[in-house]
Amino acid sequence: MPLPPPAQPLQGPPAAPRVPLEQIDVRSLSKEKIRELFRSGRLPTAENIVEEIFVRSTKSGSTDIHFEPVEGELRIRLGHEGVLKRLVSLPPDMTENVMSVLKTRGGLNQFEKKKPQEGRFSAAYHGEQYDFRLSIIPVLIGERAEIRLLHKTQRIARLEELGFSQKSFDAITQLLKQPKGLLLVTGPSGSGKTTTVFAATNAIETPEKCIITVEDPVEYKLPYASQVQLPSDRSFNFADALRAILRQNPNVILIGEIRDAETGIVASEAALTGNLVLSTMLSTDALGAIHRLLNLGIQPFWLASTMVGVIYQQLIRKICPDCKEEYQAPENELALITPHLQSAPQFFSRGKGCQNCGSTGYKGRTAIGEIVSVSMELRDLILQQASLIKMREEAARHGFQGIRVDAAEKVAAGLTTISEFIRVLG
Ligand SMILES: [Zn+2]
Repeated sequence: MPLPPPAQPLQGPPAAPRVPLEQIDVRSLSKEKIRELFRSGRLPTAENIVEEIFVRSTKSGSTDIHFEPVEGELRIRLGHEGVLKRLVSLPPDMTENVMSVLKTRGGLNQFEKKKPQEGRFSAAYHGEQYDFRLSIIPVLIGERAEIRLLHKTQRIARLEELGFSQKSFDAITQLLKQPKGLLLVTGPSGSGKTTTVFAATNAIETPEKCIITVEDPVEYKLPYASQVQLPSDRSFNFADALRAILRQNPNVILIGEIRDAETGIVASEAALTGNLVLSTMLSTDALGAIHRLLNLGIQPFWLASTMVGVIYQQLIRKICPDCKEEYQAPENELALITPHLQSAPQFFSRGKGCQNCGSTGYKGRTAIGEIVSVSMELRDLILQQASLIKMREEAARHGFQGIRVDAAEKVAAGLTTISEFIRVLG
């Protein structure tokens, strides 16, 4: 019997010749050697170099790529689990060509070098689909580019896989039982908010519910939901889309992100009319998000009557299981962590660094968080636009526990290190 034809590969850019980036790294080559390479035309093209960077960054699971012209080099760094690592430093004369390749890919204006530009494109690597979100800004010497990598074929994680502590997980599950109101997932950028909000939507999906999303752009496909993507020409925005969605009587609305007052106002209106509205927002802590919404100009009355809860989260690196060791933490380290712990363990853990973790001592990340469930008393304080201190006191009376306590418990349990706690939370 003849073998079936091989599966059709995903459409991607034509395979470029692999470029040995290490051999054109200006930090390991002399100026003469680079000049010679330039003269002899033996330097790979900017097109091929960019392609190689994309191949490597997608393979290593990087979340972002930074192209930075700094003194004497075009430095390329990859962001991995929240930490930047240098990939290669290219000869500075290549900056313009590299930027030009990036602009072409992102559909941007080649000749614009004085204004920030944003674009996006998709491509397949290693059989997986990726979205590249490109941002270019003019800097003192040339332009700086950053690309956010989005793994499109990634499946949506389940809530229980995100690494929230049992206490946080129970609190989130409780919040998701609310039939209506505004529920926010907040945190700094790159803190896993989107992953959580999609996992939450998945957790409450039933065949009886009408779920509509509005996103910029659509990050994950939800098989059971109608998803609205904001058009790249900006012919309608979040608020326009939301007003239209409300006319279709949904039960659950997922708004990609609340970025401005208008979206915030329409989101709370939508929650007021009996929908469960889930969204993400930048913030520095859970209660701060409530204050931020008030500052955006949302009526305290609306917020007080619709807000059901705020999840604030960050991601923290986990110790590599292959090189984990216990150690006696010195006094200065202990002083940083014990204030957040009820009882400190005798030994703490860290990763020695091994082949399996690229000598970093860490592998994978887990969520840490703090969760506010809006009580009757807290509603009253929102209505009065009370200070953050008052809100925090009230939340604490209902069992609110700050993110530091949550993270410190993960340190004590040997999941992460004291230094990672300090790196993420300060
Ligand atoms: Zn290791």
